Amino acid sequence: MEKFSVAIIGGGAAGITAAISARRSGKPVAICEKMPQLGKKILITGNGRCNLLNDDTSSAHYNPASRNLVSSVFSRFGKADIVDFFNGLGLEIYCKEGRVFPMTNQASSVLKALEIELKRLSIPVELNFDVKAISGSKGAFILKSKNGAEMVSENIIITGGGKTYPALGSDGNAYELAKKVGHSVIAPVPSAVPLVLKDPLCHLLQGQKIFADVTSLIDGKAAGKASGELLFTKYGLSGTAILDVSEDISIAVNRHHSNDVVISADMVPFMDAKELENELERRIKAGFAPGDFLAGLLPNKFSAALSDLLRYDTAQMAAILKDKRFKVTGTRGWNEAEFTSGGVSAAEINAHTLESDMEKGVYFAGEILDVQGKRGGHNLAWAWASGFVAGLTGSN
Ligand SMILES: Cc1cc2nc3c(=O)[nH]c(=O)nc-3n(C[C@H](O)[C@H](O)[C@H](O)COP(=O)(O)OP(=O)(O)OC[C@H]3O[C@@H](n4cnc5c(N)ncnc54)[C@H](O)[C@@H]3O)c2cc1C
Repeated sequence: MEKFSVAIIGGGAAGITAAISARRSGKPVAICEKMPQLGKKILITGNGRCNLLNDDTSSAHYNPASRNLVSSVFSRFGKADIVDFFNGLGLEIYCKEGRVFPMTNQASSVLKALEIELKRLSIPVELNFDVKAISGSKGAFILKSKNGAEMVSENIIITGGGKTYPALGSDGNAYELAKKVGHSVIAPVPSAVPLVLKDPLCHLLQGQKIFADVTSLIDGKAAGKASGELLFTKYGLSGTAILDVSEDISIAVNRHHSNDVVISADMVPFMDAKELENELERRIKAGFAPGDFLAGLLPNKFSAALSDLLRYDTAQMAAILKDKRFKVTGTRGWNEAEFTSGGVSAAEINAHTLESDMEKGVYFAGEILDVQGKRGGHNLAWAWASGFVAGLTGSN
């Protein structure tokens, strides 16, 4: 049986990049991918456009526990290196408002560029190879698949991803491999995920979208803020502003079981409270009908849905519209989340090499680690950079 220098578990963004960097340094490398196809998740990123990088890769955009690791990895393979890497594969890219996309606006172009390079470098890809067990030690690890197939390798890089969109392959099973080599896994929760709550407004306004400033309050303290789309749904709230503040909320409700989680929405962010109060006063004086009272300030359906407002004076009405409170009871699940919060503890990984502190010759990269970036290209930036660094060092 051929013995590889590096075997990579998981052919997603991090695994493919790790394979390319390891192979470029001359070592025999193979990828084991449980699905019948590589990189399925890449295809759905950025709504099919793949927001592959952010212009600002500072560690401040990542969860505090991961920042040492993130800074160290980006100092070895940073934004300019990621751009050069893709340009070198023939992928033209552009940057809009800090977010980087392929010029084709097609995520499939990103995967294609990576696949061409895998082929050029003659990297063997074992599809339908679902790694279920790792035995041996540095110099001779044995990977065993669900079907009984085996692969032998001197080093391994585990890039099995998180738990989102499990039908695309990453369903959290790779955490078990990490646990077996001695790692702690911070309880994974879905992030960049819609919120579940019971409020009659959500039911009345389902399908309606507004632009709002949103603040999350956890155990009475402001946790996050975002401006953007607020979408009312039959189960609660969604939209970019909600996804952007959802990580702390998901950790609070799903990991810490907090029942004091609130969203405060400024539904009229383009006016301050006094201006809004004056405008509402003017409408009362002008004799606006109750069913039209908020017309032009908010979409038409809001006047009827918020008819209770008319019981209050205008200062109170303005205060409610600028600080509408929603008590959050939960989040939607893994099929609606963009990334995972939690994973293999960053504290147990060598920040320079990405080698495990628990088992020599085992490396980690990508979303399987407890590293979460904000939305906007930070998670793929992490996947490429950590994959590249793990591939470089894992093959030495
Ligand atoms: C809807 C959606 C949109 C997103 N959009 C963006 C975006 O625009 N920009 C951005 O930065 N991020 C985005 N993300 C997040 C980003 O896709 C992930 O952070 C990134 O793909 C993680 O890469 P990875 O290689 O670590 O894991 P994955 O891409 O999940 O790859 C892991 C691979 O490992 C395989 N695998 C798992 N276990 C095993 C095993 N035991 N044996 C063999 N193979 C195994 C899986 O099948 C999978 O192919 C989005 C995510 C979603 C769900």
